[in-house]
Amino acid sequence: MRIVLLGPPGAGKGTQAVRIAEKYAVPHISTGDIFRANVKEGTPLGLKAKEYMTKGLLVPDELVCDLVEDRVSKEDCANGYLLDGFPRTVFQAEHFDAFLKAKGEEIDYVLDIEVAEEQLLPRMIGRRVCRNCGKPYHVDFFPPKVEGVCDVCGGEVYQRDDDREETVKNRFRVYQEQTAPLIEYYTGSGKLAPIDGAKGQDEVFGEICALLG
Ligand code: AMP
Repeated sequence: MRIVLLGPPGAGKGTQAVRIAEKYAVPHISTGDIFRANVKEGTPLGLKAKEYMTKGLLVPDELVCDLVEDRVSKEDCANGYLLDGFPRTVFQAEHFDAFLKAKGEEIDYVLDIEVAEEQLLPRMIGRRVCRNCGKPYHVDFFPPKVEGVCDVCGGEVYQRDDDREETVKNRFRVYQEQTAPLIEYYTGSGKLAPIDGAKGQDEVFGEICALLG
């Protein structure tokens, strides 16, 4: 099963992705996580990506497509995968579709997690994450028991640069301009499934499971 997760920043793609990947036993491929890992390790890709990420801009298409196409060619993706945060532009979607077509493959589901923008801003600005194990928190909805300290591993709980207010506003603008057109791109493919992301995490997951079977 090859699944693409679409949706504006903060719609809960990452949270749902972890649950879907576990239930359907497919690798969770998050381009954002791959870039963040490269930034942390200071690789050449990370150094290039960081310039864009800290401003809330998209990393150039040519750096993204090869990366994803290499990743899904690995053995663990033979039975499918879940793409979280890719494609983000019509160019990426077209490039990836052509790549799949050449292998006689196609995407099975495009899940579009929909949430109104005014609900998302407070969700995102309050977001925190453990620097060590990546566990997500929220200052209002699920803060760590001790402020700034991860419940699981004791690591530092911090705010990602790209969750700061100015950057978040930029990410919404970029989403509207460059990623939202993907909804039209996938409409008519028969694969696009709108999911109401304004509900609670469990309800959203239930809706997704009902669809995927
Ligand atoms: P995310 O965690 O998916 O919100 O991604 C964090 C940041 O990584 C984004 O704001 C972009 O700068 C970059 N990024 C992730 N995926 C892509 C992509 N498919 N195309 C371009 N940039 C991306």
